Order: sequence, then structure tokens, then C-alpha cells
Amino acid sequence: MATILVLGGGYAGMRAIKFLQKTALAEDNLILVDQSSLHTEKTNLHEVAAGTIDPAKITYDIPSVIGKRVTFIQDRVTNVSVNDQQVTLAKHSPLTYDYLVLALGFQSESFGIKGVDDNALPMDDLATSKTVYHHIESKLKYYAETKDRNDLKIAVCGAGFTGIELLGELTQSLPKLQAKYQTPAVKVVCLERMPSILPMFGQPLRDYALNFMARHDVEMRLGASITEVTPTAVIYEDADKQAHQFDANTIIWTVGVSGSQVIADSGFEQRRNRVVVQADLSLADHPEVFIVGDVAAVMDPTGKRPYPTTAQIALAAGEQAAKNIGALRRGQTTDAFYYQSSGTVASLSDRDGIGEIFSKQRPVHGYPASALKKVITDRSLLESAHLSTVFHKGRFDLYH
Ligand code: NAD
Repeated sequence: MATILVLGGGYAGMRAIKFLQKTALAEDNLILVDQSSLHTEKTNLHEVAAGTIDPAKITYDIPSVIGKRVTFIQDRVTNVSVNDQQVTLAKHSPLTYDYLVLALGFQSESFGIKGVDDNALPMDDLATSKTVYHHIESKLKYYAETKDRNDLKIAVCGAGFTGIELLGELTQSLPKLQAKYQTPAVKVVCLERMPSILPMFGQPLRDYALNFMARHDVEMRLGASITEVTPTAVIYEDADKQAHQFDANTIIWTVGVSGSQVIADSGFEQRRNRVVVQADLSLADHPEVFIVGDVAAVMDPTGKRPYPTTAQIALAAGEQAAKNIGALRRGQTTDAFYYQSSGTVASLSDRDGIGEIFSKQRPVHGYPASALKKVITDRSLLESAHLSTVFHKGRFDLYH
């Protein structure tokens, strides 16, 4: 009998534990650890932050979907010692393992920029995303008393996927909040260091997204490199190194993420808390340890750059780790991880979006792109949870 321990109930960990029930030997002991008993569909956090979705719709109860043979331990992982094959937890006794799947996910990254930790609002989990929405709503609610114009200004820092998708949702929710609290229009400004947005998409789709923002009065300040965040302003340099500032009482931080801090705390060789793994997702010199999702850097077949850190790739990696552990349990060799993207989509509100199916040759925009994103979300729910979860939490209204 072997103890197989999965750390993290995010996309990668949930997929790994689901597949381990098929790939592990019948006598193996399967354990999943997460600090929360809820799995969060983190690709939808921007909807919680903008207030366009009920937070309960993007979470589901881990113990009720993992299957009877898995032991679930709700606790925070504080340290992983691969030399001792031991994991330290905040409350429970340490756990030892024969095989480990390390899938502890991401956290918001401040990149050491002054004032970010104290003054900007991250949105890297359910709690912080709810805080963003409550903050926005309270600024509008009390504007009648404060008459502080900066209460009606929102800065979104970073125009990556998260920033762009959040801006898209805000174009839906802000008009409703303005009407509810009878405020003048809210000014939304996005500050992005690069001269363009979303470089993975072709120019026509990028232009489509920029036109969407212009149509909805979202101001995109490109080439704006943020140097400091104060309680009431974002300070940045333009391409000519001239300093500027945008005053706002709501400053949302979507400038990028790093892997879990447990990686650095445990002494792994890492960059931004990501560990470079072998082609089969195992840790060098530790064939019993598999690292997947946002804590891993997996080189793509060119060997020149890692795969991007997306939920779809985390799901595929969790599955491959489970298959490789199953192979090792049967004395077989492991397979290299390979991922062929079937498409990338960024939503621009519930009804609009941009995406590419298979390659840059097949761009989609508007409602078809947004529908495609819902299909991707529902498919991942189906593969990691249950059909009933899709019916209760799926994205298409026809389920409800
Ligand atoms: P990101 O790293 O993709 O984007 C951060 C943005 O902030 C970049 O455009 C960067 O140029 C900008 N930036 C960095 N430093 C800056 C500075 N000092 N001043 C101004 N701008 C600065 O981060 P993210 O959007 O949080 O996404 C994290 C990961 O999750 C990515 O890998 C992304 O692909 C993935 N993701 C995917 C989807 C999807 O597939 N629909 C959705 C959300 C997130």
C-alpha cells in the first residue's frame, strides 16, 4: 500500500485526485489537503469582484465531490520536505507520503512595488474578490455623504487576462450601481505597462477589445509603468519616464501572480514560487514528487519557454500527474506532459469576448467568444466535479 498525498484543491489538485481514484492501486491511501472545504473556480473571480455573479455559483464543496475513498483534511500546508517525504500542516500532525502531488496554486504578486500591499486590492481568491466588490459598492453608497470625487474613480492596474475580464464585467455592473445609489458616472482607468494588451491574440482581436473599452468609457492608459500605490493614487511613468498619477479611492491590483509562498518557504529552487519540473512533471531527483499548476514551470515541446499558467493547462497537468503515479505503482515508465491548446478566450462581460480557436487563424469575438468561454467552464466543472454541479453552477442560463 502507498500513501498518495495531493496538496491543493484547485484546478490541478481536484483533477489529480479525481484521476488517482482510477489510476492508483485499489489498496492505496488517497489524501487531499486544502485550507478550505470549498473549491473555487478561480477563472471567474473577476465576476465576483464586479458583483455580476453570486459567489456561491463559483464554489463547490470538496468533500461531497471527491469520492468515498479519498480522505480530505482541511488545513493549511506550511512546509514540504521532499527529503523527509513529509508535509507540515498548521493544525494537524505532519503527514508522510510515498507519492506527492504539489498543487498549491497562485497568489497575487506585488513585485516589490511600493505601497501595493497596503493600498491596492488584490483579487486572488474568493475572499479578496468579494472585498473588491464591497469596496466599490461602499464608495458609491457613501458618495452622497462624502462628495469625494475620488470615490467615483476606479483604477485597474494591469491589462492581463484578469484586468481585461474584470473591466468587461465592470461595464455591466457599474451602471446598475450608479442607478441604485444615484451617483454621477464612475470613471474607470486601466494602467498597463506594455504598449499593447493581451499579446497572445492577433491585432484585430486586440483592437476589438480596445474598441469595446472605448465604447464603454473605460480609459486604457498603455505604456504606464506603475511605480507606487498610495491610499488615494496610482503613480506611474510613461514611456518617456515622465511621472504621472491617477487619483482614485478604489485601486485594484491585477498586475500578475506568483506561485504559493509555501514553495519558497520550503526551500525549493524556484522563480516567483514556480519550480521547473521534468518533462513528466516530476521534481528532478524526486520521481515520487509531481508539481502541477501555478507552482510549476513546465517547458513546452520547444524547450524554450514554459507553458502559460492557465486553468486548462493545470487541469491537464493534474490528470497527467495522476496517470504517471498510476504507472509508477505498476512498475511502468511515466509519460511526458503534452498540451495542445484548443483555444483561448477572454470574456468582455457576460455577452461579449475575444478568442482564438485552435490557432490565430480562427478568431472569434462578440457573443460566440463569450459562449465559448461558458462551454470551457462547464466542461471543466463536469470533468472535475459532477454532472449535478454543472446543473447547479454551470454558466448557461438554460440550466436554471
Ligand atoms: P498577467 O501576468 O497575465 O498580466 C499582468 C499585466 O500587468 C500584464 O499585462 C503586465 O504587462 C502588466 N504589468 C506588470 N507590471 C506592471 C506595472 N508595474 N505597471 C503596469 N502594468 C504592469 O496576470 P493576470 O492577468 O493576473 O493573469 C495571471 C495568469 O492567469 C496568467 O497566466 C493568465 O494567462 C491566467 N489567466 C487566464 C485567463 C483565461 O484564460 N481566460 C483568465 C485569467 C487569468
